[in-house]
Formats: sequence, C-alpha cells, structure tokens
Amino acid sequence: MEKHYDFELIEKQMQTLWREMRAYAFKSDHTKPLYSIDTPPPTVNGSLHIGHIFSYTQAEMIARYRRMQGYNVFYPFGFDDNGLPTERLVEKELGIRAGQMPRSAFIEACLETTKKYETEFKALWSSLGFSCDWSLQYETISPDSQRISQRSFIELYEKGKAYVKESPVLWCTECQTSIAQAELDTLEKETIFYTLKFDLVDDLQVPVERFEPEHTSQTNAQQPKPQTLLVATTRPELLNGCVALFVHPEDDRYKGLIGKSANVPLYNYQIPILGEATVDREKGTGIVMVATFGDATDVTWVQSHGLPYRSVITADGTIEADDPILGSLKVGKARAVIVEQLRLSGLIEGEQTINHIVGTHERCGKPTEIIPSRQWYIDILTDQARFIEAADAINWYPEHMKNRYLNWVQNLKWDWCISRQRFFGVPIPVWYCAACGKAKIAEASQLPVNPLETAPIGACSCGHTVFIPESAVLDTWATSSITPQINGKWGEADDWTSELMPMSMRTQAHEIIRTWAFYSIVKSLYHTGEIPWKDLMICGFVLAKKGEKISKSKSNAVQSPTELIKTHSADVMRYWAANAKLGTDTFFDAEELSIAKRFINKLWHASKFCFSQLENYVTNDTSSDMANRSASSQKTSHPEIYLPIDLWILERLQDTFNLATAALDVYEIGTARHYIDTFFFSDFCDDYLELVKERLYQPEKHGYDAQKSGQAALYQCLLGLLKLYAPYVPHITEYLYQSYFASRESTDSNDHAASQSKFTASIHLTTWPKSRSLDETLMAFGKEIKAIIGEARRYKSENKLSMKAEMPTLTLQCSQATQPLYAQSLGDLKACTHAIEFIMSEND
Ligand SMILES: [Zn+2]
Ligand SMILES: [Zn+2]
Repeated sequence: MEKHYDFELIEKQMQTLWREMRAYAFKSDHTKPLYSIDTPPPTVNGSLHIGHIFSYTQAEMIARYRRMQGYNVFYPFGFDDNGLPTERLVEKELGIRAGQMPRSAFIEACLETTKKYETEFKALWSSLGFSCDWSLQYETISPDSQRISQRSFIELYEKGKAYVKESPVLWCTECQTSIAQAELDTLEKETIFYTLKFDLVDDLQVPVERFEPEHTSQTNAQQPKPQTLLVATTRPELLNGCVALFVHPEDDRYKGLIGKSANVPLYNYQIPILGEATVDREKGTGIVMVATFGDATDVTWVQSHGLPYRSVITADGTIEADDPILGSLKVGKARAVIVEQLRLSGLIEGEQTINHIVGTHERCGKPTEIIPSRQWYIDILTDQARFIEAADAINWYPEHMKNRYLNWVQNLKWDWCISRQRFFGVPIPVWYCAACGKAKIAEASQLPVNPLETAPIGACSCGHTVFIPESAVLDTWATSSITPQINGKWGEADDWTSELMPMSMRTQAHEIIRTWAFYSIVKSLYHTGEIPWKDLMICGFVLAKKGEKISKSKSNAVQSPTELIKTHSADVMRYWAANAKLGTDTFFDAEELSIAKRFINKLWHASKFCFSQLENYVTNDTSSDMANRSASSQKTSHPEIYLPIDLWILERLQDTFNLATAALDVYEIGTARHYIDTFFFSDFCDDYLELVKERLYQPEKHGYDAQKSGQAALYQCLLGLLKLYAPYVPHITEYLYQSYFASRESTDSNDHAASQSKFTASIHLTTWPKSRSLDETLMAFGKEIKAIIGEARRYKSENKLSMKAEMPTLTLQCSQATQPLYAQSLGDLKACTHAIEFIMSEND
C-alpha cells in the first residue's frame, strides 16, 4: 500500500465507485424496513457556508448508519429555489429591481440563476461524499412541485382553512410584500420618545371651578385656554393616522377624560378618548395615541373598539400623497419634517432618547409596517391546541427543542399570511369575478396554473365570465412546508404518500422551528390528520470566532466549504462536523481540523500495520459478519480465536457497537464518535496492538496457533472499526475496505443486487452488528489488563525509564472470575510490559 494517503485522488475515486455501482440508489424493496429522510432543501440565496457542512453532514451520517442497519433508506435532496430569497439574490447579482422589468423576463433570470447555483451546490455535496439519491432531486419551483403546492392550497381552501381577507398585515416596504409573523425579527433600536401636546376639546367649555370670584375680571378678558393632554409617541409621522387616545379606566389622573374628545395637533381633527384596561399606566404619560397602524397593539385596539382606518403609510414606504404636511415623503424623512413642524408650533413638551424593540423583516433587516391589504391566510389560530398536541406525537432530538416549538405556537397572534406581492413563486391559483368579486379557484385539471396567463374554466356563480387574475404568489414556506408530500408525489399518478408518511425523520436547523417545522406540521395535520414525521433531528449551527457572522465577513473567505474540502479533504471536514452535541451551536476554528487530520493519519497507519500482519492470513469462514453471531456461538464462529486478550478486544468492539448504536439511535453523532474514538485510540492502538505485536511477529516463539488467533482477532477488529467509522469518514474507510476486505467479505452485504454485480460490495452496504449483551468476565479482564499496562507505563515514565526497559516483577490485580484468563495471557503481558516475573493478587 501507498506510504501516504492521497485524499485528493482517493476521495474522487471512491465517489466514482459509488456512482458507478449506484450504491445509494433508492429501490422499492419491501423486504427491508423503510427509513425516509425529509432533507432540508437549501434556500438558493447565495453560496453555502461552513454551517451548511456542519448540519447537513450530521444528517448524512444518519443516512449511512441506517443503511448499514439494513434499512431501505430513502434519502432525497431538494432545493428551495422559489420565493423572496432567490429574488433578492437575482436582483443583487444582476443589479436590477424586479418591479422595473417585465415579469416574465425577471422570472427567466431567476430560473437561470437558480440553475447555476444548484449545479454548484450539488457539486459541493457530492464532493463531501453525500449518499443521497440524486435521481430523487426536487426543486420547489419545478412544475411538479408547483402542481402539488397549488393542490395543497386548493384543498385547504375547500376545507375552509385557507381564506382571503382585507385586513392589516405585516408589511415590508423594502421588499414591498406582506410577510408572516414567523418572518419577523426584533431589533433593539435607539429612538426618541416625543411628548406631544393634544388639546382636550371639551375643555373649550370652561369648567365652573375656574371661575373664582377674584379672578373673574382676568379670565373674562381672554379666551379660556383648553386643557393640554400630554401624549408620548415614537412615531409622530403617524399623527395623521391618529384615531383615538386611550387611558386606563382606573387611572385617577385621566379617568375623567373618558368619553371626551381631543384635537390632533397640526392636523386639527377630533378623536375620541377611550378607556382600555390593557393600557400601561407607567409608560410615557399614561395616555396612549393609537394610529393606524403603529404596532400590533394598535391593530388589536382598533379592532376591539371598532375604530376607523386612516391610511398614512403606503406599500412602498411613502406617506399618502394627500397628507397636507408629509405627502409622498419616505417614513424617515417624514418623521424629521413633522418633528420640525411640531417644534415650530410649540407642540412638543419633551424628548427622551430610549431603546425600544422594533419588528424587522428577517430577509432584509428593515423595520416592518402594518398596512391593510387583501391577503390569503391559512387559519392557524383556531387549531392551536391541535398543533400543541402534535408536538407530543413527534420525537424531538434533542428533547428541549420541543419547548421552542410550544412557545411559538402558544404565542401566535396572526393567522399565517401566505400571499406575497412578489414574482418568482408558485402562483395562487385564483381569479376574482369582475362583477361580484367572488374568488374562483382553479380546477385540478389546470394545475399547475398561472392565473395571469390562463383563464378560469366556466363562469362565476353569479353568471359573469370576466375575471381578474390574482397576481400575488405563494410564500416560499407554503411550498417548502410540503416537502414530505413533494417526496411522496401527493396526488400524482405515482402517489406513494400512504407508504412514505409519516416520514421517519426530518432534519433541520433550530432557527426554523417556527417556520419550516411548524408549517409542515400544520399542513400535514390539515391534509391527512397525521404528523409529517416520527423523529425531528434539530441541528445547531456554526458561528465564526468572536461573534463574527460566517457568511458576511471577508476574512471568512478561507472558510469557503469548497476551499476547505480541497485543502483538508471531505473526511477531515466530516470528522470535524461530528464533534458537537446535537442541537448546540459551535465555533469554527481551522486549527481544530488538525485533530481530524491526525485521526485520518492514525487510521491509515494502523490499518497498514494490520494489513502487513494479515498478509499470510486466510479466513476460515467467509460469513464473518458479527451480526450473525449470537453471544453463545461467538467463540465457535471464529474457532481460531481462543486467547483471552483476543477475545476481549472483540468483546470490547461489540461493546463499542452497543454504545455507538444507542447514541446514533437518538441522533447523538458526536457522542457516538467519542465512544468509537476511545475504542480506536486507547483500546485498539495503545493497548491491544502493543499486546499482540510480538505474538504476530514471532510465531516461532509464541506458537502458530497463537499467531492465528491474533490475526483473526485483528481482522475482525479492524473490519469492525472501519464499519464504525464508515458513516463518519466514508472515503478512507471504503478505500481501506476495498484494499483488503472487499474480496474476502463478499457475502457480507445487505444489498444482494450490488454484491452480485461486477463490483465488489461497498463497506457502506455491509451490515452494522446488532447490539447484544456482553461477556462480563471478559470485559472485567480487559479493564484489569488496561490498568496493569497503564501502571507499568506510569512506573517507567516516572522513573525516566525507556518503555522497553525490563521490570523485575509486576503485580497482576485480578478478580477470582478473571484469574483463569491470565494463564494464557502472560506471554502478551510480558511482551508489552517487559516484566520478568508476575505476582497474582486477587482483589476479592
Ligand atoms: Zn424586506
Ligand atoms: Zn361573480
């Protein structure tokens, strides 16, 4: 074998091998249990970063693990290429604005750009050795996905769960579209709290108590001054949208004002003063100005008190043109102008700088507005209890992520707004009757349909046949929330959702629990009454050092995934990605990759050593698969293995399989790797190889049977190790397997088609041994042996002796049960510790 492992050459070779043997092709096979993965389709909004490698690789390892366990793994890959993120990428790349060009030309540009990125993304995932079946690839903008998405919309409409209404909606004036509550971020911002003077209208009739006899002459001389009400606001530009003042009904300062009216400064119109128990008496002056719409509280109070709507801010973020003071100004400029006007008129009582929380659009970071418009919604508020209940039917990994979901669902305030005033998305399959305004929904036979290009079938129920098409598109989440249905080809000729759903596992990042996980649960419950998947694997993400954002900073260019793979290898990146606890965020530090590189190096050299010792070894039985060995038949299936040290290392290997299986079954990839590493570095390399070395080298001294016992154990142990590491570092393990084991292990494949083909079976199609109970005596014996070796090494290093130095005596601390195993192990112990004489000391 080569002296050094050439990853650049070998990783590509292994990927070609897998492609040629179609190692990961999904076949309908009812002899094996199905394990299906709902893979997150990455948003096509620019390049992938190290965070994607981190989370996607963790899920990929699970796919490999399940395949080796004997499952028929359905592992598709998709791209979420419709919607605003893609539009913004295209606008940025081409230096255009969607609204300034023909709709069709813009959509064409979007399709071209997404194709380019999808090719890049696919190449990256392939270079990481991903074992998905690319023939199952889907895109959320493809005609098939559009048809399934529109079908979902129509079914929800027919079930009364999708509805259209004119009402205040969260609006981004930058992206010029409505947005959903889940797309709202919050930002703490410094702003000025202006205390404005409003006149109390009823005070113009001067109260009786003011007419004290001694002052009569003075007050008669001039017009009585109206009482001034002080009202604090952060949004004076909304003054012309003021519809009421609110006070707390038990606020002694103001309760007398309830029922009276106030005059809006500068604009001079009257608004009522109303009582409202949810007014915060401590905030500002305790008198609250309600304008349409400053925030969600305004919306609530306007609705609950039946107040009118006064339009101030328009969809593009300018003030209504007919506003006498601020007409057509942008919001920021409008605020400066109105403050100046108020100051000049002496209508500002005070200004205070405060920090407050503003809602921003997660896609562009700009503060959002609330603007009434006609939008499509999915009713999610009615069924909150059902969505909460569904959380218990799903296994959450890690468990505490369930709380994030529950918190979100319990605090929902708005129905899910699914329409977007954008271009590159799935069209809403609806027209409106020009005569009566009634919505007409597309027929199933028309799907996918773009109402802007196609007319509806038939007339409106009112008899008229002239229709206005809906020009809004569906929000991208409305389509990505049905990835299980897209995978199952729901409603298509080859629909297999009844077999596929609920899917075995969804993997995703924690920051999209409130969107992707939640919306998928909503859609699945509404369509089928069932949860979409059994297990939810929630990954953390990667932060650059010192709170740097990964994707933005220029100094992070060296962290480009393509460069990292090219420089360090896919296996190194994968080994690194398997380091963290599931669901926790991690930092990326290129220096940590040296740990992974040392590991690859150690695995290479240890394997080479083993192969050199196995050159003349002939396996007695071809069915050496450990899965076929029960505890009782274990010793007989490898009759040549009889020495206790050899039996122990195989038992410890099984122990490692038991531990790794338990961890991987709950998606703890990092924990499982830790168990495997301990076995490899400590038990196998540090101790076992040192114990068995001389027996392998010198059969004339230790006996040929003893050598054979060691060789057989070495064979099984290395094979087991390669299997344990196969999900983590698939390239090097495959190469090592192909270099030695493949020709000898031809029957150990759970894929018979592959094993009968011209290709030798892949390690990734071999069997992962089942967990079983362990031989406790052997395990205790191994622990004692390790302690004895450790003690000898400690003694030598403390006394500055060479590790090869002889020791006159060595005490063997053992138990009654393990004592009989020592007689056949003294040769190994002597070779390893260089002790001349042993003293047995029984512990119990
Ligand atoms: Zn925006
Ligand atoms: Zn009509």
